[in-house]
Amino acid sequence: MATVTIRNVWKYYGETPAVKDLNITCPDGSFVSILGPSGCGKSSTMRMIAGLEHISSGDILFDDVRVNDLAPKDRDVAMVFENYALYPHKSVYENIANPLRLRDVKEATIKERVEGAAKLLEIGHLLGRRPHELSGGQKQRVAIGRAIVREPKLFLFDEPIAHLDAKLRAHMRGEIKHLQRTLGTTMVYVTHDQLEALSMADYIAVMHDGELQQWGTPSEIFNNP
Ligand code: ADP
Ligand code: ADP
Repeated sequence: MATVTIRNVWKYYGETPAVKDLNITCPDGSFVSILGPSGCGKSSTMRMIAGLEHISSGDILFDDVRVNDLAPKDRDVAMVFENYALYPHKSVYENIANPLRLRDVKEATIKERVEGAAKLLEIGHLLGRRPHELSGGQKQRVAIGRAIVREPKLFLFDEPIAHLDAKLRAHMRGEIKHLQRTLGTTMVYVTHDQLEALSMADYIAVMHDGELQQWGTPSEIFNNP
């Protein structure tokens, strides 16, 4: 688990700033939603936290450690995107196991973690299937399973359920929230959907045009718009 601190962070693409002097602290074990319209800088922020995008200026810290220059694989974060990027030719079991295989984890540990994650996500009966044999919600769970087996100290979810239908989205909101509470892992969750932020987050960071516009609990944000 980790406290994530974004301190005076700027992101430029060429001459154009996409993130402007951003300051956000995500407390250890909390669920923080970054909420804002398309193009406001949410994904850029997420990618800088993951180490997938260079920070133009400012710092990002995990606890007291400055991570600006750490490679993604050394940051101990797991990401789930809107498009799940499952391996089509691999079984559900192998999709979930993949990050552990890349890290030379022992076979017995892999089995234990994959089966544990599958049980938590209620996909234990799907471990032998291929991605094309799964529904949208099931694929989403596999992507989440792949993130949690690594036991990262931080989850980064970027619009993970945006393309699911309304009923399934409502269901997955509950599941993701429950999962984060159960594991106690710090979560940064990007969305443009107010209802998602409102129903899941401990704190909401509202972004507008690259800047932090508002920060607070869901009731603080939605009672003082
Ligand atoms: P959001 O996730 O809120 O939709 P992004 O962080 O993706 O916002 O984008 C913020 C701004 O930065 C947008 O104006 C977008 O066009 C621009 N941008 C994002 N990625 C790049 C890139 N790789 N090159 C140039 N501009 C980019
Ligand atoms: P993994 O499933 O472990 O992310 P990949 O083959 O996708 O495996 O990536 C190899 C390494 O690069 C990973 O260990 C991971 O730390 C880093 N990486 C790649 N893509 C991402 C991403 N989208 N988010 C975070 N880290 C990433």
